[in-house]
Amino acid sequence: MKLFLYGHSFHYEMENLCRLFFHRQKIEVVENCRAIDGPDAALALVERTDKGFRLFVKTELGPHSAEAADTAPLDAPLPELERRLAVLLFHQLEAALGVRPRWGILTGVRPVKLLRSLTERYGEEAAVRRFREDYLVTEEKIRLSRETMHNEGVLLARSRPDSCSLYVSIPFCPTRCAYCSFVSSTVEKTIKLIPQYVELLCRELVHTAQIVRDCGLRIESVYFGGGTPTAISAGQLALLIDTVNREFDLSHSRELTVEAGRPDTVTREKLEALRRGGVTRISINPQTLSDEVLRRIGRRHTTRQTLDAFALAREVGMDNINMDLIAGLPGDTAEGFRATLDGVLALSPESITVHTLSLKRSARIYQDGAGEAEAETAAEMLDYVGRRLPEAGYAPYYLYRQSRMVGNLENVGWCRPGFESPYNVYIMDETHSILACGAGATTKVKRPGADDLERIFNFKFPYEYIDRFQEVLERKNRVKECYEEFGGTVRSLS
Ligand code: SF4
Repeated sequence: MKLFLYGHSFHYEMENLCRLFFHRQKIEVVENCRAIDGPDAALALVERTDKGFRLFVKTELGPHSAEAADTAPLDAPLPELERRLAVLLFHQLEAALGVRPRWGILTGVRPVKLLRSLTERYGEEAAVRRFREDYLVTEEKIRLSRETMHNEGVLLARSRPDSCSLYVSIPFCPTRCAYCSFVSSTVEKTIKLIPQYVELLCRELVHTAQIVRDCGLRIESVYFGGGTPTAISAGQLALLIDTVNREFDLSHSRELTVEAGRPDTVTREKLEALRRGGVTRISINPQTLSDEVLRRIGRRHTTRQTLDAFALAREVGMDNINMDLIAGLPGDTAEGFRATLDGVLALSPESITVHTLSLKRSARIYQDGAGEAEAETAAEMLDYVGRRLPEAGYAPYYLYRQSRMVGNLENVGWCRPGFESPYNVYIMDETHSILACGAGATTKVKRPGADDLERIFNFKFPYEYIDRFQEVLERKNRVKECYEEFGGTVRSLS
């Protein structure tokens, strides 16, 4: 389709809104043009008049053509103009295509954060009304957001001005899954780099621990993510975890999570190393319990391996296990997904995170055109999640969205009460600073009590991280400068 824009700078937002309806179609944006040219097109225009702004949207989509206008006062803030224009466009696309995106005009990553900020400003009832009437969010997604907001609130309240969390990146995987768009390197190709990577990562952790002490920060949670952290050896995992335990004061930390994502990397020796290191939570990720779907998505393990890894983890004494699933995988059906969820529930993990497939252009599966489930099928899968998990005693506690998700749906972390992962809440809410170590990791420094974040990027690939390690340490020193700019060390701030 073609999208014509005139008189405003809402290019990105209008294009994203059209993408909700034209999921994998190319959207050609023509700026500075006030008339539609050709079929399958929409125009979104804003013009200033003496009396105020005039907003106008026109669509020509197949046999449907429509137009509508709205006005706004001259002092209307830009986000309000953008919202009103989006509402006009949304209604016309909805009528022409007969599709009702469940999150309405919300295309952002953090709808719960928006609900929380509206609640703080106007009260919860008014915030909910705005979600329904101004952003056109469906009742079911309002309920989900509201419940998530209440559940995450307990953890958010525990964060203080001197709080921070630690992220450790292990960007290696045994093989690359076909839907993956992360910068992770397969062990086969990079095995030689791993010993040096681990050694330097330990040095970065030592350096970061000194910064944490200098700034008077306190660690609330620690998370080893990837890639697949358990792709490295038991000895290497133990070395990294020991370094974290030795260098950082973890007396206030409520979590030490290590993702053991791929079941084909889980061994007794590694699980025992994690137990000895005081790891409190692991994640074993089946994504699906259908071997046929696993094959379609190029994830080289079997359902049997997932079940065995889970049983082994329990045997070793892991009493807080998360399992990740993906709704909308190519070749999966609503029935198949229901069987997966029921199968996972039979294992009784403490938490289940349900993602919706998001296919980035860099994913192999996207390039192969292997496709994904239909938006309606993905929505049906999530409807089942929304019924089944509460019945089984799980509640949603963090939620986020990504671009290009099937059906424009969401990812939700569900858990039994008391098993919320603080790190997941803090990273999604951007509650406090996250100090991140390793290749591909991004440190986010948050000014206490304000919204602004400064990002400090580590090099993406392990070979760059190794080659330019001195620069990694130098960049990290920026954390200290930030806290000095905030007005001294955190101890004096709090
Ligand atoms: S295990 Fe995860 S990070 Fe690794 S290749 Fe597969 S999807 Fe990507």
